[in-house]
Amino acid sequence: EKPRLLDDEEGGVLFFGASPSTSSGYGYSSMERQKQRLPVYKYRTPILYLVETHATTIIVGETGSGKTTQIPQYLKEAGWADGGRVIACTQPRRLAVQAVSSRVAEEMGVKLGEEVGYTIRFEDLTKDGVTMIKFLTDGVLLREMMDDPLLTKYSVIMVDEAHERSISTDILLGLLKKIQRRRPELRLIISSATIEAKSMSSFFQTSKRRREMEGKDLGPRMDPVILSVEGRGFNVQIHYVEEPVSNYIQAAVSTVLLVHDQEPMGDILVFLTGQDDIDAAVQLLTEEVQNRGKSCSGLTILPLYSGLPRAEQELVFAPTARGKRKVVISTNIAETSLTLEGIVYVVDSGFSKQRFYNPISDIENLVVAPISKASARQRAGRAGRVRPGKCYRLYTEEYFVDEMSAEGIPEIQRSNLVSCVIQLKALGIDNILGFDWPASPPPEAMVRALEVLYSLGVLDNDAKLTSPAGFQVAEIPLDPMIAKMILSSSQLGCSEEIITIAAILSIQSIWVSSRGAQKDLDEVKLRFAASEGDHVTFLNVYKGFLQSGKSSQWCYKNFVNYHAMKKVLEIREQLRRTAQRIGIVLKSCEGDMLVVRNAITAGFFANACHLEAYSHNGKYKTIRGSQEVYIHPSSVLFRVNPKWVIYHSLVSTDKQYMRNVISIDPSSLTDAAPHFYQHQRPSSMLH
Ligand code: ADP
Ligand code: MG
Repeated sequence: EKPRLLDDEEGGVLFFGASPSTSSGYGYSSMERQKQRLPVYKYRTPILYLVETHATTIIVGETGSGKTTQIPQYLKEAGWADGGRVIACTQPRRLAVQAVSSRVAEEMGVKLGEEVGYTIRFEDLTKDGVTMIKFLTDGVLLREMMDDPLLTKYSVIMVDEAHERSISTDILLGLLKKIQRRRPELRLIISSATIEAKSMSSFFQTSKRRREMEGKDLGPRMDPVILSVEGRGFNVQIHYVEEPVSNYIQAAVSTVLLVHDQEPMGDILVFLTGQDDIDAAVQLLTEEVQNRGKSCSGLTILPLYSGLPRAEQELVFAPTARGKRKVVISTNIAETSLTLEGIVYVVDSGFSKQRFYNPISDIENLVVAPISKASARQRAGRAGRVRPGKCYRLYTEEYFVDEMSAEGIPEIQRSNLVSCVIQLKALGIDNILGFDWPASPPPEAMVRALEVLYSLGVLDNDAKLTSPAGFQVAEIPLDPMIAKMILSSSQLGCSEEIITIAAILSIQSIWVSSRGAQKDLDEVKLRFAASEGDHVTFLNVYKGFLQSGKSSQWCYKNFVNYHAMKKVLEIREQLRRTAQRIGIVLKSCEGDMLVVRNAITAGFFANACHLEAYSHNGKYKTIRGSQEVYIHPSSVLFRVNPKWVIYHSLVSTDKQYMRNVISIDPSSLTDAAPHFYQHQRPSSMLH
C-alpha cells in the first residue's frame, strides 16, 4: 500500500491522511495494543516507504507520539538490521538513552544489551553481531567516527530530539551530511518535537546540479522529505501567576499543594532547573506534607535528573497506585526526551539550566536562565497526554507574551568550542570556519578555542593536530583540558593519581547531598581535606574508600555517595584502558603532590586566578580575562583563600563561584604555558 503523497517536490511538507487503524487489536497482547494506540503507529507504512526512497527523512511529532521507541522497531521489522547492520538512534541525554533503550527491550521481549542495546560515555551495553537497535548519545556517535569515519556498520541513523539543537547534534548533522555523499545508501531520520523542521530540511537540501546528476540513478532521492505525525494531545488550560514570584522553588511547592488539595486525581510534573533546586523542592514538599499529616496523604514525591541512581529513575515510570498521586520534580529532561504516563498537571518554573559562554572573558557557565516560548509550550503539552490537563506557569502572562524569546539559541552559539574543534580536527576537518554548520558558531569563540588548543600543545602553527600529543588528547573521551592533564601526568609520573582525579571530576559529586545536615557534611569533609585543595582531597577520599574494602557502610559514615564511588571505579578502569592504549605510562607518584599539582596546571593553566590584594572577602580575578570570581563554599579552600589557584569549573548564582579548586605556585604557570601567559599579559603581572 503506497502512502498518499501530497507534495513531493523540492522536499516540501507532506501530510498523510491518518487512516483509521484496521486492526481491532483482538488477539494481541496488551503491550502490542499499547503500541498500536500510539499516534506514530498509523504512519508506520509511510515512514518505512519514505525511508526506503529518501536519503533523509525528517519526522516531526509531538512528544509521546512514539517516535523514539517505535520507529527503530519498525525499521528492524522492515529488515534494516538484516545482515549484521545496525540501526542507531541518538539522544542528547544519557538518561534518555538508558530509559528509552530499556523500554524498547521490554517491548520487544529481549534482554537489554542483546538485540537492543545502548552506549553512553563509559558504559557500553551492546554486543557485536547481536545488537540490531542501538541507542546512544550523539556525543558517543561522534567518537565512533574517529575509528570508523563513515559509520559503516549503521544502515539507518535516527538523530532524535533534533529540536534541542545540542552542540553534539549540530556537529553530527554537519558530519552526517558529508558522510551521506560518500555513502548514499545510508539513511538518516531527523526527528524533532517542533516544526522548526523547515530549516533542517533546507540544511539537507542538495544542490540542483547534484539532483540532475543523480537523475538516472536508482538510489534514494537525496532531497529531504518532511513527515508530520499528528498527535492527539488534549486541551491544556494555562494558568499564570498574577504577580511575579520571587522564589520559584517555594512557589512550585505551594502550587503542588494547592493542586493536590483542590484538583481531581492525576499526576503532577514540576519543571525546575537542576539537582540543587530539585532536592530543595523535594525536601520542602516532604516537610509540608508531613506537617499537614492526614489531610495531605497519598502524595508520592519523586525527583528526576541525570545522575540519579538507576533504581530511583525507574520509580518515575512506575504506574501510580489507585487513590495515590505522584509528583515528579524534574529538570527539562521531561520536556521532550522522556514521556511520563498519567501526567495531568504541569507546574512550570519558567527556567532551565543553560550553558553560556562569553568569548571575551573566556568563561563558560551553567546558569539558570529563562526558557523560550517554544519550551514553555512543550512543557504545557505534557499535561494533555491522557486527558485534558492544566498547566500552572509561575510567571505572568505579560512576561510570557512580551519578554520570553520565541526560540532558544542553538547550544553551539553559546558554548566553549574547545572540545568541538578538537573533534573536528581529529576527523580531518581542517577548515573549521568553512564547515557546513546547521548554525554557525561565533568566530570569536572559534578563535578562543584555537588559541587554547594551541597553548595546550594540541594544535601546531598551522592549526593541525600535533603528533603525538594532539592525537592522544583527541583519543581521550574527556574535555581536552582534562585529557592534557592526563597526558602530562605520564611524563610527571603521577598518572594513577591523575586518572583518579579525572574520574571523580567527570561525575557530578562524590558527596551525598547534605539533606539538611550541611554542618555535619562540612565536618566530615575536614577529615579528608588537603591543604592543596579539592583535587588532592578527592585522592584522600578515594584512598579511604579503597582501604575500607569499598564498603558502603564506610561511605554512609563519611557522607560519601556509594553509587558515585562505584561509578568512579568504573570510569577509572575505562580511562586506564584508554590511557594504556595510547601509550601513557601508568605510575603512582607515591604521595608527591607537587607533581600532581603540576599535571593539573599543565591542563588547566587557562583557569588560573589570583587573590586580589587587600581583598577581605575572598575576591579573585581570572588572569586571563580579569573576571571577578570567588571560591565556592563547597570547596575545602573556601575561606582559606590561597594567593594563586586554578579552578576546574565555574558556577554562577549571585556571583561567579569556582568549583574544585587547587592552590598553585605561579611560576608553574609560566612553565606550563609560556606562550599563553606571556602573550596575554606582561610577565610582571605574574609576580
Ligand atoms: P516520542 O519519542 O514521540 O516522544 P516515545 O517513543 O518516547 O515518544 O514514547 C511513546 C510511549 O512509550 C509513551 O507514551 C510512553 O507511554 C511509553 N514509554 C516510553 N518510555 C517508557 C518507559 N521508560 N517506561 C514506560 N513507558 C514508556
Ligand atoms: Mg522521543
